Amino acid sequence: MRSKIVLFIIFCVITQIAIAQNKLPLIGVSSSWGDTDTRVPKAYVEAVMMAGGVAVVLPITDNKEMIEQQIDTIDALVVTGGADLNPLLYGEEPNAALGKVYEQRDEYDIALIKMAIKKGKPILAICRGLQVINIIYGGTLYQDIPSTYGKPYIKHDQERDVKLGSHTVTIVKDTQLYKILQSEKVLVNSTHHQAVNKLADGFTVSARTSDGIIEAIESVEKKIIAVQFHPEEMVYGGNKLMLKLFHNLIQRAENK
Ligand code: MN
Repeated sequence: MRSKIVLFIIFCVITQIAIAQNKLPLIGVSSSWGDTDTRVPKAYVEAVMMAGGVAVVLPITDNKEMIEQQIDTIDALVVTGGADLNPLLYGEEPNAALGKVYEQRDEYDIALIKMAIKKGKPILAICRGLQVINIIYGGTLYQDIPSTYGKPYIKHDQERDVKLGSHTVTIVKDTQLYKILQSEKVLVNSTHHQAVNKLADGFTVSARTSDGIIEAIESVEKKIIAVQFHPEEMVYGGNKLMLKLFHNLIQRAENK
């Protein structure tokens, strides 16, 4: 009788180990605040799930212990898009065309990203997510492309469906982004009026538009791939090329 119990316990332990090894990676998705809710545009969580990750929405908090546990819980992080960043964060006064800023979200995103880097968790940063990372490492932004870029520019605030691309980007060879997308010219969507001005220290530009605007940056050392466009919306709209960015994040989450 006793040996049967021992065998049963051994069976349970082995089963548990097998289940643990086959677990799908948990992918944290940073959120924003609506007037009455914590929210994430549906496309982010759908794209993560389509790539085989379990999407975990991370609520905004100023509690550092909670931020650390959020990061400890996940295997990789998606930093989502949203409102303009407070320009005082990079030493500039607000431009007349600056949109509404949300300081609590700015502070949360900065703390979350720093914690993810400290703990070695891979990051896919999108739109505003790219901009936050650029600011953390000493970069600056054009607060409003039309009024501050000072050079001819193409349309970066598309009016067509965000699931469809509207301009091309040229991807720099020998970058992580090139390895993932395997293409020099890629059609992407565009819903931003801000963009990287001074590039963050230690980062590489991995894509630009024909007007010179930076559309992607990365750091191998910090495990960051950041894009100015919205791959999640294109993935949700059925785009297979952009799904590679999410598959890559899942792979990086599994190999971390
Ligand atoms: Mn653009």
